[in-house]
Amino acid sequence: MAQKLFLLPGDGIGTEIMKEVEKVIAWLNSQGETDFSFDSGLVGGCAYDAHGEAISEEDMQKALAADAVIFGAVGGPKWDKVPYEKRPEAGLLRLRKDLKLFANLRPAICYPALADASSLKRELIEGLDILIVRELTGGVYFGEPKTITDLGNGQKRAIDTQVYETYEIDRIVRVAMDLARTRKNKVHSADKKNVMKSGVLWDEVAQAVAKDYPDVEFHHILADNAAMQLVRNPKQFDVMVTDNLFGDILSDAAAMLTGSLGMLPSASLGAPDAVTGKRKALYEPVHGSAPDIAGTGVANPIAMLASFAMALRYSFNLVALADRLEAAISSVLADGLRTGDIAQDNRKTVGTEEMGAAILKKL
Ligand code: ATP
Ligand code: MG
Repeated sequence: MAQKLFLLPGDGIGTEIMKEVEKVIAWLNSQGETDFSFDSGLVGGCAYDAHGEAISEEDMQKALAADAVIFGAVGGPKWDKVPYEKRPEAGLLRLRKDLKLFANLRPAICYPALADASSLKRELIEGLDILIVRELTGGVYFGEPKTITDLGNGQKRAIDTQVYETYEIDRIVRVAMDLARTRKNKVHSADKKNVMKSGVLWDEVAQAVAKDYPDVEFHHILADNAAMQLVRNPKQFDVMVTDNLFGDILSDAAAMLTGSLGMLPSASLGAPDAVTGKRKALYEPVHGSAPDIAGTGVANPIAMLASFAMALRYSFNLVALADRLEAAISSVLADGLRTGDIAQDNRKTVGTEEMGAAILKKL
């Protein structure tokens, strides 16, 4: 039976980089390597223009029915004045919420050809391959109360609340442990148990889950130390699991060790279905819609293609194919091909289509 992909290119460069993914899918199907059926929808500003909503009900239903959603990017200055609940980003938030995507996977991989683009020394960064697993649906982003109160004397009080329950910590740590088993069998769990009750519970639950994975090396690390160690000696890490807020910060820091925003993929996963065991999933580049370069054909498609490689790996268990796509990316970089965002030393650069075509050819 065909495996169902639902493509949501979105706005700006989202539509340009998604075309390169479509070419890869069409080629894989034509070779009989995959049997994907794919349908596309609108999300973000383009959906607002068409339907007055950041995503239509019809497209939400298609996303819910798909085996994987491949998402481009949303937003742009054109929609700055759109009502808050209809703004382009609301489409992505709705998808995350309705698909119940609680686990955000952010790899930080250093392609050897780009090791000198990092702010760190080549020897610290070469061969870097870490995976940050961020809890995405709980914590201080959503906890109640969440208020700003006018105290009346020219002063205000703002309150955010960090809330975590056992089941939320348990399931995200299990995702990290399972992933570690497909990698180097090492997990660091980051929290601030020295000052936060939610950190105390986080570590208690994480340590308990770790007992079910005697083959995985488990380490507790304080989140501030994790930030320092990421910059000091990033290669000591394999998988790092942490909460929503620390994950936001640590994954951005880890990502930038590797160079450009145009290189970074991500995956967001839900819970396995009780019957089929399949997880809902959404794959997207870390970068946004880049309105400053949209329409000029220069966007780097690598983050988008690497996100598709994550879909092959995590939604369809096509591990060898995912490895090949990632190797194809690495190989065109080794050949010296560069889009503008990753160009070094006045080298000639190529556009989106040329980069996409070169990667497909390697594949
Ligand atoms: P968002 O709020 O959606 O996260 P942002 O303000 O963080 O957006 P991006 O849209 O990610 O910004 O762009 C930041 C900068 O990086 C811009 O100058 C953009 O042109 C550049 N950039 C982002 N993605 C790419 C890409 N794939 N290829 C080339 N340049 C990119
Ligand atoms: Mg941003």
